[in-house]
Amino acid sequence: MSNNRYKILVVEDEANIRSFVRTILETNGYQVLTAGTCGQGKLMVSSHCPDLIILDLGLPDIDGQELIREVRASSPVPIIVLSARSHEKDKVEALDAGANDYVTKPFGTEELLARVRAAIRSSRHGPETGGRFVAGDLEIDYDGRRVSIGGREVKLTQTEYNIVAFLSEHPGKVLTYAAIIRAVWGDTDPGCVKRLQVNMANIRKKFGAKPGLGKYIFNELGVGYRMQEEQE
Ligand code: CA
Repeated sequence: MSNNRYKILVVEDEANIRSFVRTILETNGYQVLTAGTCGQGKLMVSSHCPDLIILDLGLPDIDGQELIREVRASSPVPIIVLSARSHEKDKVEALDAGANDYVTKPFGTEELLARVRAAIRSSRHGPETGGRFVAGDLEIDYDGRRVSIGGREVKLTQTEYNIVAFLSEHPGKVLTYAAIIRAVWGDTDPGCVKRLQVNMANIRKKFGAKPGLGKYIFNELGVGYRMQEEQE
């Protein structure tokens, strides 16, 4: 499969990493643009309209978090943060600012490519407003508010369904606890995280997930959850 219709902008100040990422992406058929500073990256976003941005946070001029906010104010282009910062706080800040995903350095080639594919795919789909969502055996019928696995209906409570439906509207994207809580309950009381985790534990049990092993919904520890990518 050729990916060469997709243009990816890599914003990274370290030359080795920049050329490593460029090589991985070009070998896999993507067109690659690079920038070494936030300022340069910003210019390239407006002049080249990339299909995806891979962004380092520690940049010499402005922090990458700022670029996420600026890009998000005017464009839905998917952003994958590629950073040495592994604190949950940094991940949550980047995701809440509008990044789609977060990859921590050092990273594996296959991992990065999988995240790139997921981010590009999710941006092609957009939120579903009817119809259905299918990922492997999992099927969500939005009109009937029904979820089934392998053709057998999974009985979910209203809240559980709302969580699953919200995650499925952003397949492949990590959604933070705060984002899910806002969508499902409309408030951001920190006590809600516990409520979300309890509901999620029930959902995962009903989905047949084994402890520590994600099935359809993946746990991003301390950050949020991610729905498996949609399949056509
Ligand atoms: Ca850096």
